[in-house]
Amino acid sequence: MSNYLSTAKADHLFDELKPIFRSILIDHNRHQFKKAQELINALQEFIKELKATISEDPNLLNDIWVLNCFIQLIDAYGRTWEKITANQFVSSWDYLQSCFDLIRAIKKFSKINVQFFEQQLLALEKLYPYNVFFSVGMVVEYFECSICGHHIDSPNCIHLPGNLYSGEMAKSIGKNIMQIDHIAMTHNPHDKRCVVKYNDTDEAFNAVSYLATLLTSNKFQISDFTGLEISKVQSLKPEYKNYGRNKICLCGSNKKFKNCCITKAFIETDHIKILATHRPIELAI
Ligand SMILES: [Zn+2]
Ligand SMILES: [Zn+2]
Repeated sequence: MSNYLSTAKADHLFDELKPIFRSILIDHNRHQFKKAQELINALQEFIKELKATISEDPNLLNDIWVLNCFIQLIDAYGRTWEKITANQFVSSWDYLQSCFDLIRAIKKFSKINVQFFEQQLLALEKLYPYNVFFSVGMVVEYFECSICGHHIDSPNCIHLPGNLYSGEMAKSIGKNIMQIDHIAMTHNPHDKRCVVKYNDTDEAFNAVSYLATLLTSNKFQISDFTGLEISKVQSLKPEYKNYGRNKICLCGSNKKFKNCCITKAFIETDHIKILATHRPIELAI
């Protein structure tokens, strides 16, 4: 019985690599992102060489594909935090989305536990100002299979898009775009990279920028960030701050404020509490 992957050999390999994954995460906690990167490069080189030695076993090749996804996840995870602690919030978003793509792939093809990453990153995602996304719909002539090159729905192609075949994922590639059909705005698109971009210094990034400050001033470590507590708070609109209840209302009605706009003078805002608790790195992997 294997624990995480479909072959015992890959399982064993994953166990052997765990100490390296952990030391990469410790480097991230120390903000030594370059050092972490060197270890990741070495791991990727190792996987490449390993793949070259296996040609027969399709299950093992699929497992190696998943292991490679896991290495890419650690990589994208580190880059996300590297960008955040450097106040480069716009580019951190794209790495964060890569993390989610990789988490989905790992969960689909293995039992590797990625809960630590998923929970933390979902909380992190909520700190960003993005909630409307653009999604482009287009009409294409046909879809081609990335593995065999045939039309994806022809009898010549036996591959299902999104499945693994000897360590390669079958994808359907849209060929010959005929026209852009529509551009939709949506709250929950497949790809969240298409967003209205802000500048890194925009106050829309206040929440994630505050988190960056906590990390760079060593209030806690990256792996200690566990989630958020979001509550609604009522606060007076700026123009009514310290405004006397018996004064004539600002709206021009000639009535007293307390008998007029007082109920409309409040706005509801999110109050976000960042949660962190010290936890051992073994919890992640
Ligand atoms: Zn095919
Ligand atoms: Zn009024």
